[in-house]
Amino acid sequence: MFNYQKAFYLTSSKNYKFLPKDLGIEIAFLGRSNAGKSTIINTLTQKKNLAKSSKTPGCTNLINLFQLDKIRRIVDFPGYGFTKSSTKKLGKYFEIYLEKRKSLKGVIIVIDVRHIQMPMDIHMVKWTVSSDLPCHIILNKSDKLNIYTRNKMLKLANSFYNKENNKIITMQLFSNKIKTIGLKKLKNILNKWYHI
Ligand code: GDP
Repeated sequence: MFNYQKAFYLTSSKNYKFLPKDLGIEIAFLGRSNAGKSTIINTLTQKKNLAKSSKTPGCTNLINLFQLDKIRRIVDFPGYGFTKSSTKKLGKYFEIYLEKRKSLKGVIIVIDVRHIQMPMDIHMVKWTVSSDLPCHIILNKSDKLNIYTRNKMLKLANSFYNKENNKIITMQLFSNKIKTIGLKKLKNILNKWYHI
C-alpha cells in the first residue's frame, strides 16, 4: 500500500510562472471554502497540519504543492466562494492550470454533502470535464447526515452531475470525523490516477 504519510510541503505559488518542473503526476484538490478540503488532505496523509485551513477563508490565493514521492504531488487550490474577487482569481488560475499543466492527471472536488448543487461546484466540475481530465467528487461531512439521507444525497449528486456532463464523474461519501467513511475509496481513486 502506498504511504501517503510521507507527504511533505514542497512550495506555494501565486501564479502559474512559479511552479516546479511540469514532470510527474499531479492531482489537484478543489472545493468551496469550509467544505473540508484541508482536513481531507490531512486525514489522507495522517498529518495534523500539512494543509492549513485558512483562518480568513478566501484571503489566500496561493496554491500549495505537497510532494508524495519523487514523481507524485498533491496540488491544493485555495477554497472558492468566499468573496467574488478571490473566486475569480482562483477560477483564472485553475483554468490556466487545466490548460497548460501536463502533469495534472486528475481533479478531486470536495463538496459539502448537505449542499450538492452550488453553482461554483457545478462550474468547477464542468471545467474539469471539458479539459478531458477525470473528476472525482468527495461528498464530505457525511457524519452530519444519517445513513439514509447521506446515501440519498449520494444518489442525487450522482444523477445530477452525470446528467449535466457527458463524461462519467465518480463520487463518494466521506467524513473526517468517522474515518471509516470514504478513506479507503479515496485512496483507491488516487492510487489509480497516480498509477500505484
Ligand atoms: P477547507 O476550507 O475546505 O480547507 O475546510 P477545513 O478543512 O478547514 O474545514 C472547515 C471546517 O469543517 C473545520 O471546522 C473542520 O473541522 C470541519 N470539517 C471538515 N471535515 C469535516 C467532516 O468530515 N465532518 C465534520 N463534521 N466537520 C468537518
